[in-house]
Amino acid sequence: MAAAWEERPVVVVSAMAGVTDSLLAMSSAAASGSLPEALKLLRKVRQRHVAVLSALVSGPSEVAVRQEVQTLLDSTQDVLRGISALGELTPRSTDNILAVGELLSSRIVSAALAARGIDAVLVDSRHCIVTDASHTRAVPLFDRTGDRLRYHLKPLLQANQVPVMGGFIGATAEGVPTTLGRGGSDFSAAIVGAALNARRIEIWTDVEGMMTTDPRLCPRAQRIDVIGFDEASELAFFGAKVLHPATLIPAVEKNIPVHVLNSRQPESQGTCIRARAPRSRTVFRAIAAKAGMKVINVKSPRMLMAHGFLRALFEAFDRHSCAADLVSTSEVSVSVALDSSRDVSALVHDLRKLGEVEVEDGKAIICLVGKHIRGRAGIAASVFSTVAAANVNVHMISQGASEINISFVVEEQDVPRAVQRLHRHFFEVTKVRRRAETRSVITRSPMPTFAAQANARPEAG
Ligand code: ASP
Ligand code: MG
Repeated sequence: MAAAWEERPVVVVSAMAGVTDSLLAMSSAAASGSLPEALKLLRKVRQRHVAVLSALVSGPSEVAVRQEVQTLLDSTQDVLRGISALGELTPRSTDNILAVGELLSSRIVSAALAARGIDAVLVDSRHCIVTDASHTRAVPLFDRTGDRLRYHLKPLLQANQVPVMGGFIGATAEGVPTTLGRGGSDFSAAIVGAALNARRIEIWTDVEGMMTTDPRLCPRAQRIDVIGFDEASELAFFGAKVLHPATLIPAVEKNIPVHVLNSRQPESQGTCIRARAPRSRTVFRAIAAKAGMKVINVKSPRMLMAHGFLRALFEAFDRHSCAADLVSTSEVSVSVALDSSRDVSALVHDLRKLGEVEVEDGKAIICLVGKHIRGRAGIAASVFSTVAAANVNVHMISQGASEINISFVVEEQDVPRAVQRLHRHFFEVTKVRRRAETRSVITRSPMPTFAAQANARPEAG
């Protein structure tokens, strides 16, 4: 680790595991009339932080930080009482409470680093990350944020100090605390990295890195060494939980590599996400699946040879702020897949003016990503014959113009079967072939790019 400190890092920390969930639970308990339940959850959060603090820090510094922790949690308790008295939880007060997780963890981490002889300095993210006022999923105002970050952090770095900040939290220009959406600490780290033109952005998680598919769906999933920004963005969006989907935006803009690393195995190399990734040894880089989707079908004979229909349809989606994840159209119908958590009754009401509407729940999107499928024949055919062999029915199919992914909709319960089959076909079989190939030096792989890929093993970093 010594080397890492010499690189003059900025440390951005998330809340302790489960704390944000617990803060959310206590705020809704308070709002729905169970204040005792809320206070009980708060007591647990208090005990846990005090215990971790005393395990990491001792002496006068422990006493001082414990006092700060207590004060912060006392005021959280007041906010909970207020919520309970009003019987109402606004997004603004939700953010007030959610911010506590990162305020606590950043305080404790900076003290713990200081206790180990590192010149750590706590920096309040609410002074640095400037956002709009859309509470619980606030959007950073990048220019102002960049200016503030440089203003607060540069002098510290120049003095060889290590700034420690809470991720996930920011504030409006007026100073009202906001949060960036669940999992937002990754995004914070990337914003800081971009503002300072960092050499690299490291996301320390508790998983190995980005995987060829979700290991809970398919135990044979393998770690991806290197992946392109475009591929990783598709994966983050289509359900790979490892990264907050917005994390890569600032990194792409400044072309800074993002390393996903495992804090439980600090020596392991994780996944590097960067602009140029070597070709994968496999046809696809990864398979993602996103459950909890619904499909809205709109059928209208009026669509036949008419124009303006799609515009009217998407205007309705826009009016109801419903983002479509996947769209497929025929001459007389359009199907749109979107997140099930959205209430679409008002949207459906509007769409009925355009045609017959049907809503189907319990769907999932499976998405295969790989930028080297572009211009290669027969890939879609092998995807769908593999899915058919698993006896899985496919509802909607889409291959975007970028040709870096093939996506389709299936029944939620078919996801494990389809993903396992696809993984075996596109990832595991290739491995066997590869071994055979290196032993015999005769290329028997039907994949034309295979030999070149074997030489293009990514280097670390
Ligand atoms: N603590 C926040 C959450 O749980 C942010 C993060 O962990 O990245 O969503
Ligand atoms: Mg996180």
